[in-house]
Amino acid sequence: EYVGPSYEQILKTRQAHLTPNLLAHFKKPLVIHAGHMQWLYDHEGRRYLDMFGGIVTVSVGHCHPKVNKALSDQIAKLWHTTNIYMHPKIHEYAEKLVAKMPGNLKTVCFVNSGSEANDLAMLLARLHTGNQDILTFRNAYHGMSPYTMGLTAHSSWRYPLPGINSGIVHVMNPDPYRGLWGGSACRDSPIQTQRTCNCASPADECQAGLAYYKELEEVFKYSLPRGKVAAMFAESIQGVGGTVQYPRGYLKRAAALVRANGGLFVADEVQTGFGRTGEHFWGFEAHDYQPDIVTMAKGIGNGFPLAAVVTTPEIASCLNKALHFNTFGGNPMASAVGMSVLEVIEEEQLQSNCKNVGTYFLKCLNELQQRHDVIGDVRGKGLMIGVELVADREKKTPLPMPHVLEIWEKCKDLGVLFGRGGLDGNVFRIKPPMCIDRNDVQFATDVLDQAIKLAKPNN
Ligand code: PMP
Repeated sequence: EYVGPSYEQILKTRQAHLTPNLLAHFKKPLVIHAGHMQWLYDHEGRRYLDMFGGIVTVSVGHCHPKVNKALSDQIAKLWHTTNIYMHPKIHEYAEKLVAKMPGNLKTVCFVNSGSEANDLAMLLARLHTGNQDILTFRNAYHGMSPYTMGLTAHSSWRYPLPGINSGIVHVMNPDPYRGLWGGSACRDSPIQTQRTCNCASPADECQAGLAYYKELEEVFKYSLPRGKVAAMFAESIQGVGGTVQYPRGYLKRAAALVRANGGLFVADEVQTGFGRTGEHFWGFEAHDYQPDIVTMAKGIGNGFPLAAVVTTPEIASCLNKALHFNTFGGNPMASAVGMSVLEVIEEEQLQSNCKNVGTYFLKCLNELQQRHDVIGDVRGKGLMIGVELVADREKKTPLPMPHVLEIWEKCKDLGVLFGRGGLDGNVFRIKPPMCIDRNDVQFATDVLDQAIKLAKPNN
């Protein structure tokens, strides 16, 4: 039962006192006051299936009982010490987290948000290599702090600040759906059956991937002073950019090229980590390379502010050049939560749930695509899925915004909350709490089907 200010009062306060740029999303914005696992409840008691998990953040479920208990037990004991004294939780948790990492990625630095994690990764890369330039993809999202806003390459998330591009080069996005050389049939997808990139055999490297890679080589030749680089950042699947998957083989080659030119490769696992992609615990594992630095946030804390940078002891040692400090990073509450999230992922086998339920989801959406021309593309892996809406399938013209918003709003009215993304905002993003089941998938697919029918402009 909702107890609190009235809907009208909330709207009034928001207008009067909160930053005008807070995204309100729907025509009639939702007031969400409670959540349980994959469900959210509004102030009038209506229930919604949450297909976006607070932007890919609620990994194991809203108010998961085990995580709630871990947090409340910790709150009763100790909130905070600023790491000037050793509290046990951060140590237990660090051990458990790095055990999930391959190779020598064994040093962890806890921070509080994805932007902070990527800021620190930039610092590490520049200090360790002595180089300045950092490469990211156009269409990447790595944060909104002044440093990471430069990495982010979506004009809607970039303010006209002097210097945000300093030392940053945006390279062509190897986007198989919208990019110059295609490659969508060579995406890493559990439902892909054909290959149409002129690749001779399934064992061959994707030709489109090679073409994008050649373009990257040109950047080294023409744009980088002495061809040297501090780092390249890549989301393992682009999130905000609309679930863009790179052609097979591209990241592995890119990582080798970056290293050959003195740089480090940074995997941004803020959205793809913690089993979400199903097949692997980390998204980078599907690309068959090992990063030098991994950044993580969002799902790591199931909604609690917690983020981390994991790297090798050698790279981390460059921080000895000064003092490095973060007041809240890895505080006892965050560490208790992070630890219980890892336990729940294991105990409830959420990674394999992502794989099974996600693959089923992709199949259902593929079927829906056969029936609706507005669905131009269905892509993704595990519970990291994108549905791109178009006005024309051949030309891939994005569906006009009013139509996209109408479908989206109808889904909400029918009880399902999807996310949105992509450069044109026309990609529905499906990244729910990882505990959803096949019934939820069926319901969400039916609702999307209904919403598309109802929202047709001529209906
Ligand atoms: N990296 C990625 C891939 C993200 O999706 C985001 C947030 N959308 C960030 C970094 C930044 O995280 P935060 O909002 O916690 O700063």
